[in-house]
Amino acid sequence: MIIVLKAGATETEIDQVAARVRALGYAPHMIRGEIRTVIGAVGDERGKEDLLSLENLECVETVQRILQPFKLASREIKAEATQVRVDGVVIGGKRVVVMAGPCSVESRDQVLEVAAKVKAAGATILRGGAFKPRTSPYAFQGLEEAGLKFLAEAKRETGLPIVTEVMEPEKVGIVAEYADILQIGARNIQNFSLLKRVAEEKKPVLLKRGMATSIQEWLLSAEYILSGGNPNVILCERGIRTFETATRFTLDLNAVPVLKKLTHLPVLVDPSHGTGHWEYVESMARAAVAAGADGLIIEVHPRPADALSDGPQSLKPDRFADVMTRLRRVAHAVDRDL
Ligand code: PEP
Ligand code: MN
Repeated sequence: MIIVLKAGATETEIDQVAARVRALGYAPHMIRGEIRTVIGAVGDERGKEDLLSLENLECVETVQRILQPFKLASREIKAEATQVRVDGVVIGGKRVVVMAGPCSVESRDQVLEVAAKVKAAGATILRGGAFKPRTSPYAFQGLEEAGLKFLAEAKRETGLPIVTEVMEPEKVGIVAEYADILQIGARNIQNFSLLKRVAEEKKPVLLKRGMATSIQEWLLSAEYILSGGNPNVILCERGIRTFETATRFTLDLNAVPVLKKLTHLPVLVDPSHGTGHWEYVESMARAAVAAGADGLIIEVHPRPADALSDGPQSLKPDRFADVMTRLRRVAHAVDRDL
């Protein structure tokens, strides 16, 4: 249920309503808009209709049922777009945010070189995996903490905040010491203990869509993080499994307008994993921006042929810089900055 407070409700009144919500057995979540505050009362609603009685309070405008199964992620509870802030970077604002860097952190030199080059090309967040979810146990598994340290050094040198993947609840603490954004990978979207653990952090979470996850399931995974107390969730479409084999996955750009309708959370697109081939990355990046994505995450490697993971879909730094120049024109055409 959502409790919409009247414009001008005081802090004391808001606290009183929250206390009543708690007393009725729900968790209150404050959503502060520019004009009015809304309290999301989430919890098991069976046999508990009593929230409607809050309409009798002077400061309450209305109490409404949220129709979608995801509550805090829904546009019904918050019409305004959520902006997630990471250092000086706003994700979900007018500027399309580009996160770029290697699939895996492979060495100090590699990550420092890529970081400087993607920054010069206009990326505002550095990506790089230190814990890698690999299909084969024989494939490179990541440099782990040593990789996180290289990312931290790249951040010191360039000022770029870091997004990096965390795969297990036990590793959230160590990854959060270095990362500015915690990435949950496609293979972990329904790792509910991991979702609950990142909800305890205040750091933003980049929640990638699973390769066989419906949009509703994806938003329910986001709901685990939001209801656990972390409001800073960024969604990332990265391609789904279909019958098509010409590309690695099928990038579901339908998800962009669908998510924009259903949720207030920012939406990113990953054209690197979505296509699996560097030649297709630019087209799908442009299409994503034109479709209304708030940002992109793109794999860039100084020597893709030598990459320890995802070389075939990685752009060389020079090409990435050219892609950024052309993407900027698409962004301007749809009234965004880049
Ligand atoms: C990645 O970003 O390198 C990655 C493993 O992505 P995904 O989880 O989308 O496959
Ligand atoms: Mn990758």
